[in-house]
Formats: sequence, structure tokens, C-alpha cells
Amino acid sequence: MIKTLLSQLQPFLNARLIGGDAQVSQVYTDSRQQCENGLFVALRGPHFDAHNFLPQVVEQGAAGIIVENESSLDIPQLVVSNSKLALGDLARFNRKRLNARFVAITGSSGKTTVKEMIASILQNVGTTFATKGNFNNDIGAPLTLLEMNEEHQFGVIELGANHAGEIAYTAAITQPDVALINNVAAAHLQGFGDLQGVARAKGEIYSELKNDGTAIVNNDDEFAPFWKKHITSSVLTFSAKGNGDVIATDIQLDENQCPQFELEYLNQSQKISLPLAGVHNVHNALAAAACCLALNISLEDICKGLSRSPVVTGRLMTELLANGCRLIDDTYNANLDSMRAAIQLLAGYKGRNILVIGDMAELGEFGRQCHEEVGEFAKLAGIDAMYSCGVLTQFSQSVYGGEGKHYSNQQQLIKQLKQEAKANTTILVKGSRSSHMEKVVLALMEDS
Ligand code: ATP
Ligand code: MG
Repeated sequence: MIKTLLSQLQPFLNARLIGGDAQVSQVYTDSRQQCENGLFVALRGPHFDAHNFLPQVVEQGAAGIIVENESSLDIPQLVVSNSKLALGDLARFNRKRLNARFVAITGSSGKTTVKEMIASILQNVGTTFATKGNFNNDIGAPLTLLEMNEEHQFGVIELGANHAGEIAYTAAITQPDVALINNVAAAHLQGFGDLQGVARAKGEIYSELKNDGTAIVNNDDEFAPFWKKHITSSVLTFSAKGNGDVIATDIQLDENQCPQFELEYLNQSQKISLPLAGVHNVHNALAAAACCLALNISLEDICKGLSRSPVVTGRLMTELLANGCRLIDDTYNANLDSMRAAIQLLAGYKGRNILVIGDMAELGEFGRQCHEEVGEFAKLAGIDAMYSCGVLTQFSQSVYGGEGKHYSNQQQLIKQLKQEAKANTTILVKGSRSSHMEKVVLALMEDS
């Protein structure tokens, strides 16, 4: 963060300052970390209380601490009523002093992918800071903003949500110049009630745009008219179906299923070759391009950045195993839309296609229905065999009805897959974080 004194923060946080003043330039919440000029924020969660680790934090040389209970330790401290909200206020304080222009990204799937695409474009234009990994919740987003300083020209911030109000909170702190809802799908339905609830919650991002900001709207999403009705800033739309300001035409997939297309905006066009597999990445690239166009980045720079987009671990990572089998690791996470995208990708490969799935989590009462839809989609896509593991994937397996089997434990599944892994075969493995399907990928890689 930009260097500041605790006494400057004190009125902003509505805090009591005790134990003297101090200058701080970094904020952290992990007591194991050592941090020069560090301000430690003691958070409390259902299973931990960082106040218990304050002696260690002081010993490691913290410059100051933010606490809910005054500590007897000899260190400058800001005493607040809620340290999690104080972290948000700190981020707000830092954000106000930054010169960077900000893109905020939400949506049910593709946030991290689009974030990386945008960062890949912007880092060639100016000093850019993007959310690290998946640090996108009401603690991760403030911490991200607190890592920025006066040198940064662009901030690319991923905002996730599993309950209503979370995006409103993180977006208000971010104050984006450009805001994107990449899409809406059946994810975290438990926390939102239904799909309309998800659309409403994501829509909170547009309300927090700066006055001269731009809302980036996915015209292919069924909720586009709903969002447009509520947006008060200017709007730039994108569509992979030719129905928007930023569009893709002449979409082709190469033998690795990586898309090539013509990116069109106003009267300009650029040929794009993406290094990421799957036609859904055309959509992600259009979203990233629209965000950058809203920042007045040239189409040439956008094209250059997109062609260097990094593959993110666990998101459709392709490996060719020694036994000749193509293994696609998409185990990072899953929801209905990303399952469909993965199945569509898998179906495009020549040879035998095998889908391996674990449960999709947090679907509440829609769990069974969503898993049945996955089975139906796999059947219609013509997948050659499907194997599954978990509780809810039983429903996918029975609707799919074709070759393959449901297993109640991963060891049996892995044993079967080792026989399937051979040349001229593509195996795609996917499931929610909690289903730990990455263990299946690791086992197949070890053995080849
Ligand atoms: P999280 O909510 O976990 O942060 P995310 O929104 O950041 O997820 P990514 O990590 O970019 O999403 O991608 C997760 C998976 O979603 C990818 O492996 C891919 O299969 C799928 N995916 C990415 N983009 C799209 C898209 N536009 N439509 C459908 N599925 C997508
Ligand atoms: Mg993410």
C-alpha cells in the first residue's frame, strides 16, 4: 500500500490509536508472515482467532496491529469494532489514493481466465497489478487492493461471491472504471436461491462503477436485458454470436481445439489465435477485449496480449502422457456451465473421448437436476464413455446411460482409468474443488 501513518488511518477506520504512531506500507493477515513496515490485521473466523497469535506477530517485527480487543503488548495498535470491516476500510483508503484505472470482473465461470487475459494485454501497455490466483472474496479483494501503490497504472480485480451483498461490498471498495459480468450459471445456488438471484447479485458490480465508467455486458447471456435496464453508466457489449459491439467472426478450432477467429470492433478487425483450448475461450477473449477497449487500448495491443494468454493450473490443462493418452486436467472447479464447456471441448477431439467427473458442490436443492443435465449433455455430445465418483454424479451417470461406470471411491475409479489411458484417447477430468479430482489426474500422470 502507499506509505501511511496509523494516525492518518485512525479517523478513517473510526479506531482508537494506542501505543504510539507508526509508518506502515504493507498490510497482512497471516501471522506466520514476516513483513517489513507491516500492519497486521487480526481477523476472527469460525475456526480461528488471529488475536491468539499477536505475541508471535510482534516478535516478528510488525510495525503496528489492528485488533478488536486492546492488547497489552508494546506495539502501536488501532482498536476497531470489527477487524474484517476495518480491512475493507483500509483497502478503500488505499484505493482512493491510487492513480490506476481499474477493471473489476465477476461472473459464474471464466473470471480468472479473463483476468489473466486482461493482465496479459495491459502489462504491455503499463504497470499492471492483477488479483493473485483466486483471491476474490471479501478478504482477498481488499488484500489485493492493499498490495497496490502509486506505481500501478492498471488494476485487474477478480470479484467472486457466494452470497448476495458480497459483490456490492468488494466492488464498492474497488470503484472500477470498467466492470464485467462474464456470465451467469448455476453456481453457489445455495447462497442465492435461484438463477435470477445470481444475476441480481452479480449485477451489484455495475452499481459501483465510477460515474464515467463503462459496463461490459455479455449480450449472449439471458440476463443482459435485465442488467441493461439497471445500468446508469455507458455500456459496451460483446457477443460470440455476432450480436454486440465487440464480436467474433469466422471461428475455427485447430487440431488442439484452440480457437482462431476475427475480432471485430467498429470498423476494425484483427485475427486472433488463442493458446487456450475450447470455444468458450472465444467468449472469454471477447470479454477481455471489450474491457480493454473501454480503457482505450488499441486492437493491436489486445491481439498481442490475447495471443500470449497463460494457461492457468487446473483449468483445461492438456498433457500428453507417455502412453500416448491425452489427459485434460480441469479439476480446479466445476459448475453447470463450465461442465458443458468442458464436455463440448472433449467431444471435439478425434479418437476415443472419456469424461471423468466428480460432484459439483453448493447447488442446494438443484443438485440432482444439475447433475442429471450433465449426464444428458454428455450423452447428446456423443462422449464415448463416462466415469464418475461422488454422491451426486450417480444422477449424471444414470441419465448418461452409455459406456462407463459410477464409483463410490476414487481408488477404484483410478484403477479403471489406468486401463483406459492409451494412445488415441482423450480423458478429461473435472469436478468441484471439494471433490478433489486432481488426485485422479496425479495418479494417471504418475503411472504413465
Ligand atoms: P472461480 O469461481 O473458482 O474463481 P472462475 O470464474 O475464476 O472460477 P476460471 O478459473 O477462469 O473461472 O475457470 C474455471 C473453469 O470454468 C475452467 O476450467 C473452464 O472449464 C470453465 N470456463 C472458463 N470460462 C468459461 C466460460 N466462459 N463459460 C463456461 N465455462 C468456462
Ligand atoms: Mg477464479
